[in-house]
Amino acid sequence: MLPVVSIVGRPNVGKSTLFNRLIGQRRAIVHDFSGVTRDRHYGNSFWNDTDFTVIDTGGYVPQDEDVFLTAIREQVHLAMDESDAILFVVDVETGITDLDNAMAQILRAQKKPVYLVVNKADNEERRWNTAEFYSLGFDQLFPVSSVNGSGTGDLLDALVRDL
Ligand code: GDP
Ligand code: MG
Repeated sequence: MLPVVSIVGRPNVGKSTLFNRLIGQRRAIVHDFSGVTRDRHYGNSFWNDTDFTVIDTGGYVPQDEDVFLTAIREQVHLAMDESDAILFVVDVETGITDLDNAMAQILRAQKKPVYLVVNKADNEERRWNTAEFYSLGFDQLFPVSSVNGSGTGDLLDALVRDL
């Protein structure tokens, strides 16, 4: 079995865009399990001689706020169970939200390697702004643009080094 990397983060940060960039031309396999966040897409990726499986999580977004928080927690716990590494995606266009803080707290309290991916860093100004995300408490962050691909090479270098 290949090492597994899960992509987690609140809705609209760009998880699926990053997932599509990581799997490239390969096809995603869709598993629609019943349950709130058990809708996941699997794809395979390859970087620096390393093959790995990527999981895109959390397609369904409940409107009710309590259900929503539960769903996000479930997404994170599932990812921690089934992955060798986690890509925690946030979004520099929006900045830090309560949900980002809540997810960061759960992720920091466990042992799997977590890569903080600050997405939508499409240009120089936005790359500067990513520094605010150090307040989430991770040692390192990776500014990327899933749309234009910038920064994804550095992220992948770091990820596969430890897979
Ligand atoms: P998800 O809900 O986390 O899976 O997010 P999506 O991948 O569906 O993206 C949400 C929105 O953000 C879409 O309109 C994307 O086009 C946009 N988006 C994703 N990545 C980037 C990026 O790197 N830069 C910009 N400017 N927009 C992005
Ligand atoms: Mg998505």
